[in-house]
Amino acid sequence: MIHTPDLELTQAALASSTLSHGLRVFGDRWTVQVMLSAFLGIRRFEELQSFSNIPRPTLSDRLRALVQTGVIKPRLYQGKPPRHEYHLTRKGLGLYDASLMIWAWEKKWGTRAQDLPQNLFHQTCQHHFQPVLSCKACGQAIRMRDLDYSLVPNPRLRHQPLEGLRTPRMSVREARDMSLGLRVDRWSLLILTAVVLGCHYFDQITHVLSIGPKVLSRRLSDMVECHLLICETDGLDARRKRYQLTPSSRDLFGYIVCLSSWAGEAHLHEKSSIRPRHRACQHRFFPMVACDHCQQSLNPWEVSFQPSNGKTP
Ligand SMILES: [Zn+2]
Ligand SMILES: [Zn+2]
Repeated sequence: MIHTPDLELTQAALASSTLSHGLRVFGDRWTVQVMLSAFLGIRRFEELQSFSNIPRPTLSDRLRALVQTGVIKPRLYQGKPPRHEYHLTRKGLGLYDASLMIWAWEKKWGTRAQDLPQNLFHQTCQHHFQPVLSCKACGQAIRMRDLDYSLVPNPRLRHQPLEGLRTPRMSVREARDMSLGLRVDRWSLLILTAVVLGCHYFDQITHVLSIGPKVLSRRLSDMVECHLLICETDGLDARRKRYQLTPSSRDLFGYIVCLSSWAGEAHLHEKSSIRPRHRACQHRFFPMVACDHCQQSLNPWEVSFQPSNGKTP
């Protein structure tokens, strides 16, 4: 069956999606790195700097932006010398599900799995666990193919055009050296989402994301090289290339839905224009990341882990 997406509707939905707005805040590799480090219990500037290898001025800049977004707050500890620590706020703790999804993805597909927490332990059920994307309504584990989507553009989120998104492009080599979800920037995630919504061809993707053909063409070939997309000659028209998801990009789906859900609920207080429904239970899909042992949702204070550097967080 050939599914032809409604390009105008898809464009309007993507431009007003909570994902694209969430990615304005969390589509930058260093920002994601700082947030993930915060969940690993790394709170001081010097530790963040040495763990992430972020240039100092960039780190100061990102910390300031995260404080402004309200996801971390600085605390001053008296001592000699006095020191600042950055703690996650309630809003920031809401990104835990998204962080667990990034860890799970990096463990499977990343190159620096040793920097991730080893053996997550759920204190509630007293078992080691893997985080699993699940449906909040029925508790079932969810894969991408279990959902249908309806698109309802949100005019209140429409005023900022996607074109305003400028992300410095990473070279493929640079991208390969990255860890902790850093290889996946906002454009890659938006391109993947366009493919999830049924846009498989160059002209469709350029239309729905309003990206210039030159930029899109570079981005697509980088993504093919990083195994995030497969490019095949179209079965019906040999002049056309068809882009498809790969096993690794399909696994990014958990991160994409957790981030958009957080952005809608905690950051924008708006409904997303992309509304997934769980086909099996017929409920509107809201993501919940669960323990694969007891199927309960996970809170950071109920999870312990042995970090790879041997320190207890
Ligand atoms: Zn369900
Ligand atoms: Zn459990």
